[in-house]
Amino acid sequence: MAGPGIDANTPAAQVAQAWGMAYVNLVERLREHHQAKTDLGLLMKPYLDAGMLVPGELLVQMVIAGLGAAQSWMVKSFPHSRAHAQLLTDHGYLPDLLVELCLDEASQLDRMGGWRQCAKCGVKRHLFTHPPTRVGVCDPCGAPYPALPDHLRSMCLEKIADYRERTDDVVGYYQGRSRLVRVSAQGGGEATSARFAAALGGSVAP
Ligand SMILES: [Zn+2]
Repeated sequence: MAGPGIDANTPAAQVAQAWGMAYVNLVERLREHHQAKTDLGLLMKPYLDAGMLVPGELLVQMVIAGLGAAQSWMVKSFPHSRAHAQLLTDHGYLPDLLVELCLDEASQLDRMGGWRQCAKCGVKRHLFTHPPTRVGVCDPCGAPYPALPDHLRSMCLEKIADYRERTDDVVGYYQGRSRLVRVSAQGGGEATSARFAAALGGSVAP
């Protein structure tokens, strides 16, 4: 689980692959079932077409189908609610740990609102994923990049608050069962994957 702007898929998929764990990214799996018109995909179609939430039981069935008979497993982008978490538990899938990737608000804003266009030469770049040689300064022309406009900053802050509100219940569900671990997503993807693996008691194989 991770807030907006924080990439959870890369470290989760890396650790799952390194450890031979079954891995289900719910968003990807939903798309696959929908496109392949599987039985589950067809059951979910009316909800997706109507822009309605897919019932938790169908989502849980999809997760379970994706995990197969695996002894160790990891799920991303699920559960979305306390009710989903309880359904997973009822089906015998209580995870050992819920990993939440965390960042301070300023860093999260850097990632969410990192796209900038130089006012002088027009070059666009993402200041976090492709940082210029000098912090905040356009490489080709040396002009400073503009700050994140206030309306975009407010939008990003709203998304962060919305994530917190939506996930508080799920986090509380696993925290109450002593299964929550928070991992810093500071720095690059490799550092995050290493911390992610360490939180699970191991390391990412070289
Ligand atoms: Zn420039």
